[in-house]
Amino acid sequence: MDSQSLIGMFFFPYVGGGHQIPMIDMARVFASHGAKSTIITTPKHSLSFQKSIDRDQKSGLQISIHTFDLPENVDIADVDMSATPFTDTSFLQEPLKNLLIHYQPDCIVHDVFHRWSADVINSVGVPRIVFNGNGCFPRCVQENLGKYKPHEKVGSDFEPFVVPGLPDRIELTRSQLPFFARQQHPHGSFPRKMQKPDENSFGTVVNSFYELEPAYVEYFKNEMGTKAWLVGPVSLCNKNVADKAERGQKTSIDEQSILNWLECKEPNSVLYISFGSLARLAPEQLLEIAHGLEASKHPFIWVVGKIFKSAGKEKENEENWLPSGFEERMKESKKGLIIRGWAPQLLILEHSAVGGFMTHCGWNSTLEGVSAGVPMITWPITAEQFSNEKLITDVLKIGVKVGSVNWVSWSTEPWAAVGREKVEMTVKKLLGGGEEAEEMRRLAKELGHKAKRAVEQGGSSYNDADALIQELKSRRQP
Ligand code: UDP
Repeated sequence: MDSQSLIGMFFFPYVGGGHQIPMIDMARVFASHGAKSTIITTPKHSLSFQKSIDRDQKSGLQISIHTFDLPENVDIADVDMSATPFTDTSFLQEPLKNLLIHYQPDCIVHDVFHRWSADVINSVGVPRIVFNGNGCFPRCVQENLGKYKPHEKVGSDFEPFVVPGLPDRIELTRSQLPFFARQQHPHGSFPRKMQKPDENSFGTVVNSFYELEPAYVEYFKNEMGTKAWLVGPVSLCNKNVADKAERGQKTSIDEQSILNWLECKEPNSVLYISFGSLARLAPEQLLEIAHGLEASKHPFIWVVGKIFKSAGKEKENEENWLPSGFEERMKESKKGLIIRGWAPQLLILEHSAVGGFMTHCGWNSTLEGVSAGVPMITWPITAEQFSNEKLITDVLKIGVKVGSVNWVSWSTEPWAAVGREKVEMTVKKLLGGGEEAEEMRRLAKELGHKAKRAVEQGGSSYNDADALIQELKSRRQP
């Protein structure tokens, strides 16, 4: 087939880990379904995924990267996956508009964190498909919080309330909501464009799969009236070791040493700990985690990402966040592996020795844990992570809550919110082999199988990806 007749899909990812990574995978998924995928990005950002696109091209997929021709000193400063949702990308407005006018693709999938992008795309008349990084469950929770405002009817930040109108009984507290969503907060609510990017769009693509959250998919489509295609878990498109290991950033440890370390461990015995691409934990919190892990006596791989340094201490480099002699003890006893920086998360989660995932409940990590069939210890911090925790623990019943109850903004100084006793207790509960934990493991494994089936030929996500391509094709006919 000549490439003109293929459906041309543009993908315009945001610049941070939790949003860029899944959209790159999504572009690859659609290419594997026969679309011609073009990823639009800045020169610096393209470097973080160039190699996997090269591999896809070699294997015959129609996929490419278009980088904006920017003046040398103009690019997004942060290329280490740390752009928060508030990084301003509006200098890309004109280049994007010109590109769309020139190429007139069949559609563009754009990330909502490019806040200005809906207007620009609407102005050139290219079908606009929304990507917001979340699943249906957190979006339904958010919708009904806004609609019924149950948090305004409780007497304190820690009094639980039920989110009305949802298929399950979902309880939250005001302390678990973003400041801007709480009553009368001076920062107000999200800008309107951020809230309603689905309006006037062609629809939305979701990195999720029907069998994970069927009642919420129905609610999302029928009650909230959103046209949606669920095409995930997109991380499952990473089939070979190189793709799994080089996802997002160069890893701080070579994959073979991790695999060697894991090979020596019993099946389902290791806890993997990661708080995603953005979280900055306080040194005091890391110390509590270290004590809790050591006391639990279970083996672990701990990814220590960014460490928060309070004002005036930015330049300090002392590792005051580890108990004395901790790392040496963990090395000698082969109990623990500490990774500073970036880990090959997919490779680790999929290893049979991994039996639990302590996670901040970012949507991608949640889905990746589900896809790997691993039960979780939930430790939400910010964004919609507290909703995701409810899905994992209360709806899917594949996780234990560590007891994090305070939503923290990216700009606030974090503190040690969870003590070592809770860490120790939850790790022992999940990995200690009790009946409750074994049931969670069974359910998690079952979901993992469903996730893999969803993306195989004839599976729900496979069919949705095909359906979207067909719908775009049918628009071409006069
Ligand atoms: N990730 C990774 N290695 C790391 C940290 C994160 O590969 O050391 C990946 C992880 O697999 C996931 C993404 O980064 O795909 C993080 O997304 P998530 O939605 O879980 O959290 P966020 O970073 O947006 O808070």
